[in-house]
Amino acid sequence: LAALDAVPGVRVQRASSLYRTAPVDSSGPDYLNAVAEVATTLTAPALLDALQAIEQAAGRERPYRNAPRTLDLDLLLYGEARIHSTRLTVPHPRMGERAFVQVPLAEIAPQLVSAAALRAVAGQRIERAGPIEVGVRP
Ligand code: ATP
Ligand code: CA
Ligand code: CA
Repeated sequence: LAALDAVPGVRVQRASSLYRTAPVDSSGPDYLNAVAEVATTLTAPALLDALQAIEQAAGRERPYRNAPRTLDLDLLLYGEARIHSTRLTVPHPRMGERAFVQVPLAEIAPQLVSAAALRAVAGQRIERAGPIEVGVRP
């Protein structure tokens, strides 16, 4: 969150708690997930560039699909935009099927998550793991 807020043209407005979930379609230890809202002057592709630069700085590698990762930053929504380009699909095409997206999203933007959407992911185990400590920089 601190890295995101440090990107020129990006301001973090809200962030959810951290949520602990077992990996989906992957292996390894539990993941910690959260959703943030930013205000930005960047275009969606430029924002994706910034997210990927932060992932790289955190040592992200992509050895194979759904591999365990140090950090994964996905662009879920960009206002009401619908984007279908080779490197960017918005809204994120798999966000509806993931409790680790819907539950934190409902915390910070309940108007974006219907009761039906929450019911659809109710079978997935997800645990609130507490607030995010902001201001801790390596
Ligand atoms: P998933 O997309 O199912 O969550 P993932 O996050 O593990 O999987 P990555 O390997 O991080 O997938 O990303 C693969 C590619 O997805 C990226 O290089 C990026 O170009 C593309 N992509 C398409 N739409 C989006 C989006 N909304 N947010 C982030 N990346 C996206
Ligand atoms: Ca992802
Ligand atoms: Ca990703």
